[in-house]
Amino acid sequence: MPKALLSMVTIGGRTFEGNERFDVTNPATGEAFTSAPSCSEDDLEHAVAFAQSSQPKWASNLKARREALSSCARILFRNRQVLASLITHEQGKPIAEALTEVDYARSVFEQYAQMPLPRQDFDSQGQTRTVLISRPFGIVGLITPWNFPIGTVAVKLAPALLAGNAVILKPSPVAPLSPLFLGKAFRRILPPGILNTISGDAALGHAIARHPKIRKVSVTGSIETGKAVLKTTADEIKSVTLELGGNDPAIILPDVEPRQIAKEILESAWRNAGQVCSAIKRVYAHKLIYEATVDALKEEMQNYPVGDGTDTEIRIGPLTTSSTKSRVEKMLESAAGIGAKIHRSKQSVPERGYFVSPAIVSEIPFNHALVLEEQFAPVLPVVPYETLEQAVSWANATNYGLSASVWTSNPSIGYDVAKQIECGRVGVNGHRRASPDAPFGGLKHSGLGRELGAWGLAEMCETQVLNIFDHNDEK
Ligand code: NAD
Repeated sequence: MPKALLSMVTIGGRTFEGNERFDVTNPATGEAFTSAPSCSEDDLEHAVAFAQSSQPKWASNLKARREALSSCARILFRNRQVLASLITHEQGKPIAEALTEVDYARSVFEQYAQMPLPRQDFDSQGQTRTVLISRPFGIVGLITPWNFPIGTVAVKLAPALLAGNAVILKPSPVAPLSPLFLGKAFRRILPPGILNTISGDAALGHAIARHPKIRKVSVTGSIETGKAVLKTTADEIKSVTLELGGNDPAIILPDVEPRQIAKEILESAWRNAGQVCSAIKRVYAHKLIYEATVDALKEEMQNYPVGDGTDTEIRIGPLTTSSTKSRVEKMLESAAGIGAKIHRSKQSVPERGYFVSPAIVSEIPFNHALVLEEQFAPVLPVVPYETLEQAVSWANATNYGLSASVWTSNPSIGYDVAKQIECGRVGVNGHRRASPDAPFGGLKHSGLGRELGAWGLAEMCETQVLNIFDHNDEK
């Protein structure tokens, strides 16, 4: 077994194989290819004890923390190939996308290494000064999903460390190898106990959320998990950041030439085989350009070869879990059963592993599950609309509120429509992230709080106001 595949947890600066281990499956084969430690609540207690004893010193030296973050970025760069390979094997995405994910994680560490901590000086009254400063929570718990096993860690870990916290990180049991590798690699830089990486299932996540010494919990995952964590943390009145599911709409206005936007629409829908919280998951196309939109997407779909992510030619890997595959296949079956048209890709699909044949779905009712729920697969429903009011009301008629996009040749109309959509980010003629400094997060059930940029750092800090009275001040 290659050394990187023997995954170990890191607690108090030491690595452990663990007494019990669970299988990790390669979704391209459907077979277990290695295992990871299954941590117990005792392991969590040890991690908390180490974190508690090492955190005060860590919090006392901002310069050392900045240097550590820069060194973490260098480690990510040096290990980009091995990390990307681990991601592709455990999660399935094409190797080029996995490399992009690692590079993105590196850029996040570089960005936070330079960022000032939140601070504000208020107008003084006389000689009295009022200053807002930030202080760490102490120990923070980071709970992450499988779809971006390194990216979702970086956006939490870098600001948490910069703020002066010690961290307990629990990645998804579906894709734990790359985050556990990171915990091991960062031992060379971070003092023992500052980053503890423990692996296990939802019960371990629950124990982290419940632990009274962990004052802050930041979770990326499904809406159900977010609700469960909110309930668990209520008793201890913890600070919680939640980055949850999305069902992003793209509204296409009749002034658009569909062939000009089909490439970008599908790129924003099918990166990571559609397993992206902020992927386009439903398209509303005006009835005048509806047929042309479906045809353009069907044509563009042929440019997406499907296969094992280690093959550099492929653009769509397997779905990461067998349950995602069976769920989307049931949704497609149900849509076909009520007369929707399922246009399958002509690209061949491997028989073993968790692959699905990509599909554009037309003539589907606006209220079918394939439109209303997160599919998390390379399947895109296209719904015709008659008026903009109707399209906006369909876009908003959901508990999801992560991101959206509006496509038009008139940017000022696009801007007006964008403001009517109830979500955390809206693109006009594009769906992806545009500025690395802008915050990311959802409205409604898609989340609480924000990640990235200064907002992401503020989530990892407590706020304290200092009033400094000068009793010599003349009245
Ligand atoms: P998930 O909710 O099943 O699991 C996420 C993490 O939470 C895992 O580590 C899991 O073990 C843990 N967990 C599960 N139940 C828990 C509980 N009761 N208490 C504490 N921890 C618990 O999500 P997933 O299937 O790994 O990831 C896919 C989901 O994540 C999708 O809904 C996707 O949209 C969402 N996601 C959101 C964002 C975002 O930024 N908004 C980014 C990526 C993924």
